[in-house]
Amino acid sequence: MIPLPKQMREFKKCFWMTSRVLYQRNADLPEKLFRFLVADLDAYYHNLISDGFLDDDNTMSVRFKLAPFTKKVPPDYYFLKVDNLAIQIQAESQNGLIHAVQTLKQHLYKAYHYVHDEFDEPGDLPCLEIRDWPSYPWRGLHLDVSRHFFDFKFVQRYLDWMARSKLNKFHWHLSDDQGWRLESRKFPRLHEIGAWRKDADGSVYGGYYTRRQVKAVLDHAALRGIEVIPEIDIPGHAMAILAAYPDLACVPRDFEVLKVWGISEDILCAGKDGVIAWLKELFSEVAELFPGQYVHLGGDEAPKQRWQACPHCQKRIKDEGLADEEALQGWLVKTLAKHLRNLGKTVIGWDEILNGQPGQDPIVMAWRGDGIDAARRAHDNGNRYILCPYTKLYFDARNNEYETVGTDQIILWGDVLGFRFSDYTFGRQQLLLGAQANVWTEHLADRADLKEKVANRLRPLAEILWNGEPVEDVWEFWDRWRDLNFTL
Ligand SMILES: [Zn+2]
Repeated sequence: MIPLPKQMREFKKCFWMTSRVLYQRNADLPEKLFRFLVADLDAYYHNLISDGFLDDDNTMSVRFKLAPFTKKVPPDYYFLKVDNLAIQIQAESQNGLIHAVQTLKQHLYKAYHYVHDEFDEPGDLPCLEIRDWPSYPWRGLHLDVSRHFFDFKFVQRYLDWMARSKLNKFHWHLSDDQGWRLESRKFPRLHEIGAWRKDADGSVYGGYYTRRQVKAVLDHAALRGIEVIPEIDIPGHAMAILAAYPDLACVPRDFEVLKVWGISEDILCAGKDGVIAWLKELFSEVAELFPGQYVHLGGDEAPKQRWQACPHCQKRIKDEGLADEEALQGWLVKTLAKHLRNLGKTVIGWDEILNGQPGQDPIVMAWRGDGIDAARRAHDNGNRYILCPYTKLYFDARNNEYETVGTDQIILWGDVLGFRFSDYTFGRQQLLLGAQANVWTEHLADRADLKEKVANRLRPLAEILWNGEPVEDVWEFWDRWRDLNFTL
């Protein structure tokens, strides 16, 4: 199994899988979730035994129970027991039940495809008892849909991959220099203009998600225990926004949605009151559309040349008593964080936001280099932080030296298994929320490229995020991997 359950006991007995399954739930388990879990398990189970040779009078009973345990247990803890009469699943949270079903699916797959010893037959489900919980609350996967666009149906498949690996945070990078991807009621030029770029050959590339499609993604995620974190990257990486609303720049001109990769010197003005009001309205709309706790406002790679030359920005620095342009970005982050806090949200930013003293509210994503310096700075400043270091967890890197698609970096799946949370803890351990892998798509133009990058490293990622420790024995891990369905 991947990830390996925290506690597992196996027994010599087996449960005889039949083609009949009786599903039961207690009253506290919501009907909608119960129907989803049953459909998920049932489709899987019946696919496994679709040749129909298993059929007798036995009925397999699977009992779901959403209820507190008598002892105190960690968040999203679940209990799974297979004995010769029934399969029992219990958890205190809906996510616990969702994770338990993923574990059971892996157990069923292995039981059906691998014969354990000479007495077993496919279809004998070994009895076992599992008590399991995640080590960290943040187990994420990111997707950049700006550089290349992936439609909402594909995003739903992406969430399916995540769910199978017990990941619970989907970081949706919805805007960048090369495209804005969200329908906006308040500022429709964002999707009408900002979602499209002209390539060198004159063709138009782009796309965006309608509000309905976003809601379909959110529903899909919720049933799988995944929270969606929208990212609107400001004040840099904002050329798609500026193409739609040029007045948001320090010096307005005709901007174009970029068709090349890199960092733009043109960024949003932080001096004009109109820009601040505009951003508050935009983030209010985003906060209303996305029900989760978090909103990511980027903050990375924002060169300060424009602000240095802008009278509005310089006036803001003077009026607010700020030290310099970095502090102005800190002021901007603080202002928007306060606005979003009033809407019940917590903001997240890339680690550059620490340069401007943004206060302790924002959660910091440590990404630059190996992430250790950024993590330490966040920790020492008292900010909560999430790890996604460039040299370790950037899945747009190539899988090996033979691959041609991807960045210049090579990150082997074995490297992911060696990821050490202990390199990033400095005292107050509760400030470290967990980690995620980032999937930027400058070099990943289509689904096949993207899948290749994620598929190879997703199971190792699942293992280290769930259990919070590096895997020392790669071959033991490989044995477990081989027991799983490889298709994502
Ligand atoms: Zn300005």
